[in-house]
Amino acid sequence: MKSFRKELWFETKSRREYINITQRVREALRESGIREGLCLVNAMHITASVYINDDESGLIQDYDDWLEKLAPHEPTSHYRHNRTGEDNGDAHLKRQVMGRQVVVAVTDGDLDFGPWEQIFYAEFDGRRRKRALVKIIGE
Ligand code: ZN
Repeated sequence: MKSFRKELWFETKSRREYINITQRVREALRESGIREGLCLVNAMHITASVYINDDESGLIQDYDDWLEKLAPHEPTSHYRHNRTGEDNGDAHLKRQVMGRQVVVAVTDGDLDFGPWEQIFYAEFDGRRRKRALVKIIGE
């Protein structure tokens, strides 16, 4: 069995961003040379998510509106976590809802998606260098 590891780095301009990373994961898969197996992609930070859904601008805005209703960034004093001096209490909660990782089957050298599935890195506390891990196992 082969195994392959790669980090994808991000530095978003705004606090929250939703980035389609499907092509970058596909490139990692090509680099790995693995044709059959499993591909894990996870955010390496507790204030960012990796999830799978449709690449559609209305939906991305709907996610952001929904997450802001669930856990608004302001007022930052609303979160006990921010008593530590941080201002990202909301980002921890948003990450919990959107999840840490995805696993995609690798079949015939490609990501074996259902219709419209794309992989996203969701940033909830950006404007600094952060990363996601791609781990692929198989043969
Ligand atoms: Zn924090």
